[in-house]
Amino acid sequence: MAWHCSGTTNQEMVQKLKDAGILASDRAEAAMLAVDRAKYCHEPDPYRDRPRRIGYNVTISAPHMHACALSILSNQLFDGAKALDVGSGSGYLSACMAHMVGSCGRVTGIEHIPELIEISTRNVREDNPHFLKENRINFVVGDGRLGHPADGPYNAIHVGAAAETLPQELIDQLAPDGRLVCPVMTVAGFQRFQDLLQVDKSADGTVTTKKLMQVSYVPLTDPTTQLRNVLT
Ligand code: SAH
Repeated sequence: MAWHCSGTTNQEMVQKLKDAGILASDRAEAAMLAVDRAKYCHEPDPYRDRPRRIGYNVTISAPHMHACALSILSNQLFDGAKALDVGSGSGYLSACMAHMVGSCGRVTGIEHIPELIEISTRNVREDNPHFLKENRINFVVGDGRLGHPADGPYNAIHVGAAAETLPQELIDQLAPDGRLVCPVMTVAGFQRFQDLLQVDKSADGTVTTKKLMQVSYVPLTDPTTQLRNVLT
């Protein structure tokens, strides 16, 4: 699926994601049409359906993973909702979330590399400056494994990097009826895999976890480890 949803324009890429059934929400589709991936991916051919380098040993996720995450979280990204984007990187997904939550909603993007905060702020300014002017997006530097309780609780939490274990702090910061999607490392024999987990908190606070699919994300880690490792 990764290679089939590339486009030569943002619109073509979105249409292919929709035709493939990956982009399964009209509101997520409207967000991906309103946010131009080329403003966040500065490599040639920005509408290719692949993760692309954004510096600092990390990538902007592939369009099919963005489409998938936004579709899964679409009911929680309602008008006026609060969302947390952990590992906001290029700022692309934070911007899509900001479109979905509307002018009364608020998205907190937390990222541990200060330079990426600067880059993502610049990207959003060049794409949808009103998201910043209206304070619809707030980018903060910090360890996303701890979340950002000051802006919570959140209706939707997206984690864009693979955690060693599901961070309890993030579950604690979910609002009632909130949903978290997070890739988490799993070990089978000598192999390491990642599962994309969906965590739902019901109105009475009961938490249920569901395994959605195997995925491949960069690690949710500390800056020293991230900047030491070389992308393969
Ligand atoms: N959704 C982003 C994903 C970027 S890759 C996008 O599509 O652009 C994952 C991001 O997580 C990287 O920017 C990386 O710097 C960040 N990251 C990794 N570990 C982190 C941590 N502990 N706290 C905050 N950000 C982290």
